[in-house]
Amino acid sequence: MKIAVLSRNPRLYSTRRLVEAGEQRGHEMVVIDTLRAYMNIASHKPQIHYRGKPLEGFDAVIPRIGASVTFYGCAVLRQFEMMGVFPLNESVAIARSRDKLRSLQLLSRRGIGLPVTGFAHSPDDIADLIQMVNGAPLVIKVLEGTQGIGVVLCETSTAAESVIEAFMGLKQDIMVQEYIKEAGGADIRCFVVGGKVIAAMKRQAKAGEFRSNLHRGGTASLIKITPEERMTAIRAAKVMGLSVAGVDILRSNHGPLVMEVNSSPGLEGIEVTTCKDVASMIIQYLETNGGPHLTRTKGKG
Ligand code: ADP
Repeated sequence: MKIAVLSRNPRLYSTRRLVEAGEQRGHEMVVIDTLRAYMNIASHKPQIHYRGKPLEGFDAVIPRIGASVTFYGCAVLRQFEMMGVFPLNESVAIARSRDKLRSLQLLSRRGIGLPVTGFAHSPDDIADLIQMVNGAPLVIKVLEGTQGIGVVLCETSTAAESVIEAFMGLKQDIMVQEYIKEAGGADIRCFVVGGKVIAAMKRQAKAGEFRSNLHRGGTASLIKITPEERMTAIRAAKVMGLSVAGVDILRSNHGPLVMEVNSSPGLEGIEVTTCKDVASMIIQYLETNGGPHLTRTKGKG
């Protein structure tokens, strides 16, 4: 197969590993800088141009679209879909997963366990908003945050009120979430490929921190997940319409709660921690499921 990897940087671990795994399995791998692709959307024959030439002959495309380039990245991916190229994850599903509120609403509609979460625009109703998520301690999250930045634990309602007021004053959209204390500063990353959890790791926050992000000094280790956690991760990826997803789960005393479903999950942490060849499993998924004109949505919301 001829496989495109949409990525801003060929030197990133995930991009390198996907190229390596694809080549090892006999495929032609081409890294395309997402922001350098340009397209003619008015033509009857959809095309993408790259470095002065049209892109042709691709069988599959692996989107590695960072949060900061979601809008343009999804447009490029949609163009690939319109050309009949098989996407690892569809543009519609990626766009959906990048909207945290919409994601939580979709997951809750299907009965997937989530931390109690509130969202509000007006600063008038802060007290009721805090009450709605069962009061302090609670977690406040900036909607556009990544890598744990903009995630604040408020021990008291007074602290929560001030923090909410501050974010609202800065015109930052936030959500307010019940604090899952019993998770003990740990979460579980389940890596889903084609409806199966193919690898899982536990991330533990460093001492004195509740955020387990590896970028915030958290450490990763192997973990055996329960059948309920496995089922939750698979269902969450399915609800989002993602073939490949990193599902982040908190262990609460009333079962697994999904925190986030990531549509471009990184390979480094999970491969290094589990010693599994996740990149090859992704390529194998394309080999088995790929084919021309198989996109379900073709960019339609
Ligand atoms: P980001 O997407 O920026 O990584 P997250 O929502 O994943 O933000 O939060 C970062 C970390 O904070 C999580 O990995 C988890 O360890 C911790 N955390 C987030 N929400 C809660 C919560 N409701 N209860 C307990 N811990 C939480």
